[in-house]
Amino acid sequence: MGLRGVLVYCHCGRHIALDADRWPYSVRLSELEQRFVCQGCGSRGADVRPDFAPPKMGTNV
Ligand SMILES: [Zn+2]
Repeated sequence: MGLRGVLVYCHCGRHIALDADRWPYSVRLSELEQRFVCQGCGSRGADVRPDFAPPKMGTNV
């Protein structure tokens, strides 16, 4: 409960939000880090962080 997705940060500066229900709960975030391939630079090993607090619509900081 509470986890609606993950935020994947690549070292190249790109980041993407993914829905948590894409993967079974048995998959750990550390495994996602190894599986994720950045669409920008094509490298693996991104920094995956749980997304507990969804950004408010219309808020653009
Ligand atoms: Zn990248």
